[in-house]
Amino acid sequence: QPQIDIETGVVTSVEALIRWQSASYGLQYPDTFISVAESSGLIVPIGEWVLYEACKQARQWELQALPIGSVSVNLSSIQFARGNLGQLVAKILKETGLSPKMLVLELTESILMHEEDMVMHAIDELRALGVRLSIDDFGTGYASMTYLKRFEVDHLKIDKSFVMAMTKSEEDQSIVRCVVDLAASLNIASIAEGAEDEETLSMLMEMGCDQAQGYFFSKPVPPSEIEAYFI
Ligand code: C2E
Ligand code: CA
Ligand code: CA
Repeated sequence: QPQIDIETGVVTSVEALIRWQSASYGLQYPDTFISVAESSGLIVPIGEWVLYEACKQARQWELQALPIGSVSVNLSSIQFARGNLGQLVAKILKETGLSPKMLVLELTESILMHEEDMVMHAIDELRALGVRLSIDDFGTGYASMTYLKRFEVDHLKIDKSFVMAMTKSEEDQSIVRCVVDLAASLNIASIAEGAEDEETLSMLMEMGCDQAQGYFFSKPVPPSEIEAYFI
């Protein structure tokens, strides 16, 4: 799914969102299978596949000189529990040839809040590789300010539940404004998920939000359709 720079309206980056074309059940969306993949442990090979495919695709776009600034990949807490995430990302970057700065890893607050040594260590390793970090669904978990400081994150993604409600609810609007201001004052880029209409977009622009992602621009699409934005 493309992510747009709100000020210029230009697509600057993409998020990799998995789909499963199942022979028995048809096209499946992540909400139907990610939690099962997490409880069965299958999320480990699935997550590795997603990382590899996303990096390979982004490298191909880089070689085609398509100006896609970065590709974001969602990570599950289970991938951290394995203890070799830093090595895995390093290996995939090497194999695909993608520049580390073009990879953004999206972490949820629940991954960060436990402050477990293994997670801390993995994040330090990822930072050392030069990949960028983003906090996903910001505001729906524990919204701890400590990890914003501790991990020097690059992006905050404002959860779509707030963004989708902001034109109708003053509370949601205040929450979005507050996260945009917090990000700006910490020098972190803000990205609003779930921008579905023009009114939401103009509110985000007025608030100074950096990027937006949502059905107003595009639903998640196959890679070939992303290329059309740049031709
Ligand atoms: P997420 O990371 O918060 O991703 C954003 C979700 O919001 C996506 O749902 C996207 O299709 C949807 N979305 C984007 N714009 C709009 C909009 O304007 N309106 C509405 N109603 N929805 C919008 P999707 O693709 O179904 O993914 C759901 C969740 O599954 C993701 O939420 C993420 O947590 C997880 N996920 C997706 N791909 C992966 C993956 O490769 N690995 C892992 N671990 N999780 C993944
Ligand atoms: Ca995400
Ligand atoms: Ca979300």
